Amino acid sequence: MPNKMRVAQIARVNGPLEIVERPIPEPPADWVRIKVQACGICHSDSVVKEGLWPGLQFPRVPGHEVMGIIDAVGEGVSQWKVGERVGVGWHGGNCGHCDNCRRGDFFACTVDLKVTGISFDGGYGEYMVAPTMALARVPKELTPVEGAPLMCAGITTFNALRNSGARPGDLVAVLGLGGLGHLGVQYAAKMGFRTVGIARGKDKEALARKLGAIHYIDSQAQDPAAELAKLGGARVILATVTAGDAMSAVQGGLGPKGTLMVIGAAQSMQISPLVLITGAQEIKGWYSGNAVDSQDTLAFSVMSGVRSMNEVYPLDKVTEAYERMASGKARFRVVLTMGA
Ligand SMILES: [Zn+2]
Ligand SMILES: [Zn+2]
Repeated sequence: MPNKMRVAQIARVNGPLEIVERPIPEPPADWVRIKVQACGICHSDSVVKEGLWPGLQFPRVPGHEVMGIIDAVGEGVSQWKVGERVGVGWHGGNCGHCDNCRRGDFFACTVDLKVTGISFDGGYGEYMVAPTMALARVPKELTPVEGAPLMCAGITTFNALRNSGARPGDLVAVLGLGGLGHLGVQYAAKMGFRTVGIARGKDKEALARKLGAIHYIDSQAQDPAAELAKLGGARVILATVTAGDAMSAVQGGLGPKGTLMVIGAAQSMQISPLVLITGAQEIKGWYSGNAVDSQDTLAFSVMSGVRSMNEVYPLDKVTEAYERMASGKARFRVVLTMGA
């Protein structure tokens, strides 16, 4: 086995992604080493590039949409075996002992909340090490490229929808048809919701319907709130866009006790308190989820046939791949592959 690996690191705030050779790391106790096969490039990786995360240390290898194979295990690891396929997502671990962890709210750990590719090196490279707490089992039906985007874009939409309060048959709208939205429409349809796609322009309609939407609203030509109201009002609107004004424009389309589920990180948004009060509406956010939520996402995706549409780049082209993601023009997720 070679003792060197290639990774793409960022060495300083706003520095380039540079491919460097490093020694292949040994997994500490309760961690495993993973031979990475594929890693999605997520918009959130920009917090590494731009140095936006408090306490972030450079150099750092980004990447929290990881698919790979366990290649070594640290001391004390008994539940995971060499050769097993695993995924690693945003949630990289938690202390397990603080009050929030004891309540099961691992995402809110106050002592040792780890984020993959931020607190420790992520998946833009040939190998990485990860705590067992961060591992999801990968079904054999998924290729590494298929699985990678499901570890962040997938789990974020899947988990938000299944925690939204919507039930089969309810009217559920997905605002935005990008990296998150194109998965959100598929999950919503497969969960048995009457699914509405909302996006800008007539040209997205065919795609929305192909992904499972039974209604489509062109938010440039139509008032999305009025159109949703005509359909009876949405039980849930999953807002995947990053434009606050687009979110504000749909609030009036919520039905009684409807929920605006926000997963797009807009700078700010306006809401009408009067509409909120008289409709007994909720506005709610959702974090992605932990490792077992990832595992549920992968299993549901296999069962239902939900897949991300991806543009694939080799690790050598990481800069081009990152720029493609940042351009917002990718259809729809960008995935790095590590070769052999
Ligand atoms: Zn992400
Ligand atoms: Zn904790």
